[in-house]
Amino acid sequence: MAQARPRTFWLDPEVAGHAVPEAAPALSGAERADLAVVGGGYSGLWTALIAKERDPGRDVVLLEARTVGWAASGRNGGFCAASLTHGHGNGAQRWPEEIAELERLGRQNLDGIQSTVERHGIDCEFERTGEMAVATEPWQVDDLTDEAAALRALGQRVRTLTGARVRAEVDSPTYLGGLFDPDGVAMVHPAKLAWGLREACLRLGVRIREHTPVRAIRPERGGLRLESRGGSVSAERVAWGGGGFPGPLRRVRHFVAPVYDYALATEPLSSEQLAAVGWGNRQGVSDSGNRFHYYRLTADNRILWGGYDVVYHYGGRVRPAYDQRPDTFHRLARHFFTTFPQLEGLSFTHSWGGVIDTCSRFCAFFGTAHRGRLAYAAGYTGLGVGATRFGAQVMLDRLDGADTERTRLAMVRAKPVPFPPEPLRYAGIQATKRAIAAADRDGGRRNAWLRTLDAVGMGFDS
Ligand SMILES: Cc1cc2nc3c(=O)[nH]c(=O)nc-3n(C[C@H](O)[C@H](O)[C@H](O)COP(=O)(O)OP(=O)(O)OC[C@H]3O[C@@H](n4cnc5c(N)ncnc54)[C@H](O)[C@@H]3O)c2cc1C
Repeated sequence: MAQARPRTFWLDPEVAGHAVPEAAPALSGAERADLAVVGGGYSGLWTALIAKERDPGRDVVLLEARTVGWAASGRNGGFCAASLTHGHGNGAQRWPEEIAELERLGRQNLDGIQSTVERHGIDCEFERTGEMAVATEPWQVDDLTDEAAALRALGQRVRTLTGARVRAEVDSPTYLGGLFDPDGVAMVHPAKLAWGLREACLRLGVRIREHTPVRAIRPERGGLRLESRGGSVSAERVAWGGGGFPGPLRRVRHFVAPVYDYALATEPLSSEQLAAVGWGNRQGVSDSGNRFHYYRLTADNRILWGGYDVVYHYGGRVRPAYDQRPDTFHRLARHFFTTFPQLEGLSFTHSWGGVIDTCSRFCAFFGTAHRGRLAYAAGYTGLGVGATRFGAQVMLDRLDGADTERTRLAMVRAKPVPFPPEPLRYAGIQATKRAIAAADRDGGRRNAWLRTLDAVGMGFDS
């Protein structure tokens, strides 16, 4: 850890090939637009891009508080998953009658991301490698076997793997079995995806205003006025893609808890180190406890290793200082060498954290405000790289008043159970985290607290 710089690997301009774009000027004066999009993460970028693709004549402006891709969208693990429901299990439990359609729409969404990347020439190191979920405890082998059966019943090409087969792919003494999904996940360079979407938006005529935090939303004749420090935008319609950040859209606050997720990146592996691990197929890997790690290779053969700890600060506070958490980084590093003891001596070069917008059902929810003139999508809970494109389509469907296969979904129409106010929110999240840790130690068995939350459809995850 001694060499680890406290910065996001993907956003580090000193890493070869990371060309951070120059920021666009902030909003100044009064502007008008047909559609104003708030947020320069994937949520806002997909909304602006698809709005222009659907209707090139629509005048679109995107307002970003800092710079495009600085937040979760530029600092995630880069697992671009088809699942719209934070995994099949969560979706099947909540919407058993709809899960086949949700899975179909999710696959269609991932294909749509791939074809957009190709159509706009976005260089984001897109690799459709699939993902291997690995079991490191016997109870997880059983869970993966059940999940494989459910996915196969939906016609998906997933394969269960014995411990030996998993270790032939990626070698760790901790692996007991696995589940490989070859189609459902792609690996991307997250910041390059955000920057590439930004570029594509600009080419289609979207006006981008960076360093423009929207402080207020005011109804006015014919639409809404968004106010920032140096100016305002009057727009007929507004799409809100502000992620986990508290802002003027108060109604989402009951449903979203901003939590911090953390990751490390190693130095590039030498060919001997790589040979000691295998990983010839470059698939994303995640382990299968309730508290899980996700890990992958970068284009220059570093290992990105993240997850496990998720940290909620009292009152939903979001602070730059929380991006660094030495205790978590040391814990992650210890877990890394337990998984890959053959890499002893490898150094970490980057450590970082970022905010995810957790909600109690673990996947995005949708809504409108200001008499249908504003649409929002939030609550992606750590699996928004792919799902934000679907959320963008839902927001645009809603703003256009369109009745589509997306807007008819129960998953889209229903809201999650809200989190209670403080201090209950903090106490509840801490109690749930303790119960989840206990379940991981106790063969996956869920105690009375977790079973009660399950019964009311609530939970806490990353
Ligand atoms: C460490 C980490 C690892 C992750 N790994 C994965 C992964 O591997 N796979 C996966 O699918 N997901 C992952 N995620 C989650 C994923 O990154 C998010 O779900 C996704 O990026 C959400 O996109 P977003 O646009 O909604 O939010 P963000 O990327 O947070 O963007 C929101 C933007 O809105 C802006 N904004 C907010 N309020 C305002 C305002 N009032 N005015 C103007 N602008 C505003 C913010 O400045 C920000 O740029 C991870 C997240 C983290 C932090």
